[in-house]
Amino acid sequence: MTKPVILTGLRANNDLTLGNYFGGMLPIIDTAKTRSDEYQINMFIPDLHSFTTPTDHSQLYEQILQTAKLFVAAGLPIDNENIHLYRQSHVSAHSELTWILDCFTGFGQMSRMTQFKDKSSDKDDVSVGLFNYPVLMAADILLYGARYVPVGDDQTQHLEFTRDIAERMNTRFGNLFTVPEPVKKQHAFFGNDQGLRIMDLVDPTRKMSKSANSEKGVIFLSDDPSAAAKKVMGATTDDKAFVAFDPLEQPGISNLLQISALLAGEPLETVIERHAGQTRYGDFKSEVATQVNDFLIRFQTSLANVDEATVIKKLEQSEAAMNIQAGETLYKVQQAVGLRPKA
Ligand code: ATP
Ligand code: MG
Repeated sequence: MTKPVILTGLRANNDLTLGNYFGGMLPIIDTAKTRSDEYQINMFIPDLHSFTTPTDHSQLYEQILQTAKLFVAAGLPIDNENIHLYRQSHVSAHSELTWILDCFTGFGQMSRMTQFKDKSSDKDDVSVGLFNYPVLMAADILLYGARYVPVGDDQTQHLEFTRDIAERMNTRFGNLFTVPEPVKKQHAFFGNDQGLRIMDLVDPTRKMSKSANSEKGVIFLSDDPSAAAKKVMGATTDDKAFVAFDPLEQPGISNLLQISALLAGEPLETVIERHAGQTRYGDFKSEVATQVNDFLIRFQTSLANVDEATVIKKLEQSEAAMNIQAGETLYKVQQAVGLRPKA
């Protein structure tokens, strides 16, 4: 019996924020660790998706490796046999299935994708790749019969599209594909509603985001640790002069309490209690600044210590295994559409 598959794409680049780390990377790594007994975990780097919009190709190959290293530095266990870490472009079935699915996808349906409309509306040269990438995403999922795929709001429509094309192909050709669970079940499975949000340090009513206008309120994992500590010291607070957790009235202080708790690995309540009533914001901030500084030093050290050869070996092992799995699905589809002899 093969295990049900959890599949997730590791979209990373070199400028991940503290928000991405706690809200994106750690939950994925935690899922991989805690579910790998019961599930096959597919973690892949969607390198073919990475240039649907213009990118610096001279850096791309290294960036892809860097993504894998970042996840390893953040704690992804690559010695676990049930966790597969692979690059999409190293499993050619992704591209081949995409073409076949393309020919069963309506142009009208694709034109209505809101992500495409959002991302293309203000641009002159929009690639067919950007238009088409939900089909590649469907192939990513269907090749492995993935049941669970964590989806953010911007991807729910693409997951629905994946279900739709899988069901359509199944109706027409017999049971070719495992249909991934609907969005609601995905959310229940991954517990996405917890909604952790680290806020921008300068404008704590906005979420910390790598594409913010100013970097002053954003802590990047690649920041110089002491410069990041200074950003914390410069964080916007309020005039209440009383440390309390009140995201509406004291968003800046509340955000720092949240960051402090995450960095210490302590429950938020514990940290709130410890600081309750503290009146000197400067003292409180410098404690958090030290935590941020120490965290970045630790993280950057472990990133520098990730052994590239070990990571490449893991990628190659997984890619070999995935070529077999994906190849089986592709062959079934090729048979169904008449490109290969029937069984
Ligand atoms: P962009 O500005 O390009 O949208 P971003 O920093 O908002 O970038 P995303 O790529 O949108 O990051 O999100 C990547 C992952 O990080 C998602 O899982 C998202 O929920 C999580 N994430 C992003 N920002 C935060 C934040 N401030 N707090 C907690 N989680 C976050
Ligand atoms: Mg975002």
